[in-house]
Amino acid sequence: MAVDLHTHSIFSDGSDPPARVVEEAARRGLTAVALTDHDTLDGIAEARATATEVGIELIPGVELSVDWLGGSMHLLVYHLEPGPGPLQDHLDELRRGRSDRNQEMVEALRDLGIDITHHELDAEAMGRGAGRPHMAALLVRKGVVADMASAFDQYLGTGRPAYRDRPRLDYRAAIDLAKASGAVPVVAHPHTLGVSAAEYRKALLSAAEAGVAGIECYYGEYTPDERDHLARLATDLGLVATGGSDYHGRYKPDVELGIGRGDLEVPDTPVHQLRALRGRGD
Ligand code: AMP
Ligand code: FE
Ligand code: FE
Ligand code: ZN
Repeated sequence: MAVDLHTHSIFSDGSDPPARVVEEAARRGLTAVALTDHDTLDGIAEARATATEVGIELIPGVELSVDWLGGSMHLLVYHLEPGPGPLQDHLDELRRGRSDRNQEMVEALRDLGIDITHHELDAEAMGRGAGRPHMAALLVRKGVVADMASAFDQYLGTGRPAYRDRPRLDYRAAIDLAKASGAVPVVAHPHTLGVSAAEYRKALLSAAEAGVAGIECYYGEYTPDERDHLARLATDLGLVATGGSDYHGRYKPDVELGIGRGDLEVPDTPVHQLRALRGRGD
């Protein structure tokens, strides 16, 4: 029984509609899929309707980028239901910050002499949830850079000339809001915490103390050894070992749903563990 607990749709920086993500999950024989768009639950209703049709479980979620001990952390928040609520209400503000930042980054690219407009960015993102991957795709299409990775390396990545920060929640605030909403927060792809593998235990212990329920261990971009190491660490710390491909469709062309770069297999055990933690708020 395999699952995929990390996917993006056109409601943020994926290229597939939510229905297609869910259909593809079913086609690949997965028993559950989580839709985890950045800062929005707008794709959940469509994903859920399709999941009912095709007979797999849909776990509603979001991915947040939060401030963490001088750096940043991506937090996957599972079982967050669309509608009003403590974290849900805050998502509007995060999306406003994202939109302001998009404007600033387009201005910065224009100041660097690149012919790019807000209108083009909106069109690339189909009017929803624009982010840096959409800017990268535009820069590739315009022939400014050869590929998406070069767009980040030269212009869009943290600290690069067109990079601009945006307001983020502190990790403790985000975890508290998630729990107040009855949802289950998990640390996404821990390699982006900016600590070495040797420091994972300490870093993840502090995340556990702040209240995260799990760690994304079975990640598409990790080697089997890294996944095993993280899963053992999660178990040691009393955390759920989750996993997913971080599927973005054509915005991450080398990552496939369910199987990542080909060798990923996420067990369904965390699905049951996350469900048991839902709505507990502790
Ligand atoms: P944003 O949410 O607008 O800050 O964009 C962050 C997203 O950009 C991530 O979720 C990834 O999808 C993508 N991304 C970030 N860094 C890179 C990179 N170096 N190369 C390719 N994609 C990246
Ligand atoms: Fe993304
Ligand atoms: Fe992420
Ligand atoms: Zn993601």
